[in-house]
Amino acid sequence: MRLFQGAADGTLKAGTLQHETRMATQAPDITDLIANNRSWAEGKKAVDPGFFRRLVAQQAPAYLWIGCSDSRVPANEIVGLDPGELFVHRNVANLAPPQDANYLSVLQYAVQVLKVSHVIVVGHYGCGGVRAAFRNQRLGLIDHWLSPIRAVMRDHEAELAALPNDAAREDRLCELNVRRQVENVGADPFVVDAWAAGANLAIHGWCYSIADGLVKDLGATVRNAAEAARLRS
Ligand SMILES: [Zn+2]
Repeated sequence: MRLFQGAADGTLKAGTLQHETRMATQAPDITDLIANNRSWAEGKKAVDPGFFRRLVAQQAPAYLWIGCSDSRVPANEIVGLDPGELFVHRNVANLAPPQDANYLSVLQYAVQVLKVSHVIVVGHYGCGGVRAAFRNQRLGLIDHWLSPIRAVMRDHEAELAALPNDAAREDRLCELNVRRQVENVGADPFVVDAWAAGANLAIHGWCYSIADGLVKDLGATVRNAAEAARLRS
């Protein structure tokens, strides 16, 4: 079953009917993914013969994306960026925990080596991780991973309680979680030191809507240590 066609402009276009068929029946065979990959690479080369040669030569993205692992939130695609233009870290519920070596390694590399100009924390409405934390579900190891979100809930108990229903509370918790992760990134020693050394580095908080494909800027952007401290206060 072939699901995607490499379009003449080098992008992948989902065949609507085929896509719907897939949603209704089953996932493609793994060999179909290899075939899709061949089509995609050929499409890229067709419109830009030097595309892959340039990528091999260097990686110089200006952005670090910290997003959710959710399959419905494909980082590059949402913001229209090619490979090589977005450095990406994803985990369940787009967390930036100060004790997580995986996230910290990505952040340090992005800030100190790639010298990105923007770190974008991107949550999404309808996040299963946020929902599990909100509903206090018991799912296993992930219950521990999600504990920072339960902390955000406690810190904003009154605000959340004032909302009309649980759907609105979960949406707001998605936003508050993003904001907290922006605070974490802005308090990170790698980031604070980069600012002190004069780096041009902004941290942003966005929330993506799976329902309409649009990101909402949460107005939590910080560009220096003073702004980061203000956001935390
Ligand atoms: Zn999610």
